[in-house]
Amino acid sequence: MPLQQKSPAAVRSLESPEEFFETRLEAVGFIFHGTVTEPNGKAHSVRSPSNLLHFARCPKLEKVGDNETKIWFRSVRVALKHLDELIGHHRWKWCKVCEREITQRILDQT
Ligand SMILES: [Zn+2]
Repeated sequence: MPLQQKSPAAVRSLESPEEFFETRLEAVGFIFHGTVTEPNGKAHSVRSPSNLLHFARCPKLEKVGDNETKIWFRSVRVALKHLDELIGHHRWKWCKVCEREITQRILDQT
């Protein structure tokens, strides 16, 4: 499944450290990082992957390793849909710090 979409893109794969850095500076949207297994079965043999979704401005993103997959999403809705399709419903989590904020944000909207 291609990540590219017609502009404006709602999902973007962050392939270089520079791209990741710039996206964090922009601090817009959400960033996922973790280990995505290939659909063709060539899974990276990673024992306990931490697949986490953050706000783009989350300070914890500083510690993400260079070899992890990173994907940017414009909105929560896009992120949830994409991650559930890509990784599976229970195979990723919100970052603890960001989760608090997203819960608050949802509460604020209702
Ligand atoms: Zn976070």
